[in-house]
Amino acid sequence: MNSAVEQDERKLPDPAGRPFLAAGFFLVLLTVVLIATNVWLAWRSYDAAWSQATTTSRNLGHSVANQLDSVFSEVDRLLNTLSYTLERNEMTPAALESLQPIMVTQISQAEYLHGLFVYGADGRWLVHTQPTQARQANNSDREYFIRHRESRSTRVLISKPVQSRSTGDWIIPVSKRIDDAEGRFAGVLLATVRVDHILQLLNRFDIGEGGAISLGLADGTNVLRRPYAVEDLGRLIPDNPLMQAVNSARAGIARLTSPIDGVKRLVVFEHLPNNPLFVTIALSEKEILSQWRSAAQVQLACVLLVVLVIGFSGRYIIKSLRLRRASDRALRAAHEQIVQKNAQLAELAERDGLTGMLNRRAFDQRFEDILLLGRRHGRPVAVLLFDVDHFKAYNDRYGHPAGDECLRRVAAALSQAIRRPGDVLARYGGEEFIAVLPDTDADGALAVGNAAREEVERLKLPHGASVQGIVTVSCGVASAFRGLLDPTTGALIEQADKALYRAKDQGRNRVVVAGG
Ligand code: GH3
Ligand code: MG
Ligand code: MG
Repeated sequence: MNSAVEQDERKLPDPAGRPFLAAGFFLVLLTVVLIATNVWLAWRSYDAAWSQATTTSRNLGHSVANQLDSVFSEVDRLLNTLSYTLERNEMTPAALESLQPIMVTQISQAEYLHGLFVYGADGRWLVHTQPTQARQANNSDREYFIRHRESRSTRVLISKPVQSRSTGDWIIPVSKRIDDAEGRFAGVLLATVRVDHILQLLNRFDIGEGGAISLGLADGTNVLRRPYAVEDLGRLIPDNPLMQAVNSARAGIARLTSPIDGVKRLVVFEHLPNNPLFVTIALSEKEILSQWRSAAQVQLACVLLVVLVIGFSGRYIIKSLRLRRASDRALRAAHEQIVQKNAQLAELAERDGLTGMLNRRAFDQRFEDILLLGRRHGRPVAVLLFDVDHFKAYNDRYGHPAGDECLRRVAAALSQAIRRPGDVLARYGGEEFIAVLPDTDADGALAVGNAAREEVERLKLPHGASVQGIVTVSCGVASAFRGLLDPTTGALIEQADKALYRAKDQGRNRVVVAGG
């Protein structure tokens, strides 16, 4: 019975583990691939946004530096030309007077110039291009004046912005020392560059709303800055990583948080090729990444949506798999129950209700098989037919229920004697029992028959109507392949029955072998 159930279990594969694992693995893989691909794509476009911003900033920095350089180089050239003229003419009043219209012409030709001035060694205004002159104007207190007076260098000096004494405008002083014939300090030549003009120039560049452009002096002073704030003019830039980079390289790029407005920016700096100035272009990180950010948000929303769809469909799949597993289990349990019941029924169909022994039908089948095997191997087979003596009388005296009990006890006693593996004992009908012993000849069967008979005797079941006073059995034995060369089961039983009659005739409680 067990082996039948096991076989059936093998036929029905257990649906529990593998489909769940496969479905789970597939869904997780799908989600991971989806997220990984999108993260990679987002990272790529982030990188592209940065490299584009870097290129733009560098180009912008270069362009601003070159434009400003050409302005200051022109001023430089003008100052050199004028100083040459002044020095050659030794700054005589006549020479100074003749210089004035030339200076005015220069101013009118150069939009960025606010004014041109010549100061004497004491700081007095000697010649200038302003329409009016401040009373007792003297510039000996200006920083550039002091520096020129104290340094023999005749190089052009660019200073931090100051407010013009003549007009009140913010200007960038560009100045040069004038020497006399003996090389002594003879005065200062000054050109003033309009801050608003430089600012206009810077305003032409598109740097977004959060961007900034600065023009600084090599000593770390801020000349001016866009977005414009008057406080920034001439402000000393605090020492920061950017300034350290500016001091050590001609051009460079960095990501910094501005010390001025606290905005995070991508900063490019570049020194002007021919002037001691540098420009910084700063683009706001927020603006650089704004397009990328909105694209990434849409991408993220799509990914979330797809992940949600995967999640819900996964839940549905797993739920259906669970339902299938439950119904498969119920089916298998029902199947097992049926197999069990069938086995029980088959068992019941083979058994005799009173004694629990095999019944006649089951016996006939086994007898057939044993006889076939015996014939094939040429081995003897014996049949023993038992009959309870005077059983009718027993029933009559003790009643039918006692008769039934007696039959049960007799059956058990016979089983005690006939217990070799392969032996088959059955109730043949009424008070008759039958046994088939494979591989047993007539002598062996006679011995077994007697042993069984004695077992019944040993029960000592009182039987008032019998000669011995106890219940006894008679037995007829028939042996195959003795006398009958190729007997049938029917013929063997008939022989055993005849021998049984003889046993009865001979006085009962004995075993008679057919043909013996
Ligand atoms: P003999 O010694 O010649 O065999 O005499 P006998 O009385 O045993 O022979 P007979 O065949 O005439 O009687 C058999 C009796 O067995 C008849 C029947 O009442 C009784 N019998 C058969 N089956 C059962 C059963 O299942 N239970 C009971 N209590 N009696 C049974
Ligand atoms: Mg009988
Ligand atoms: Mg009888």
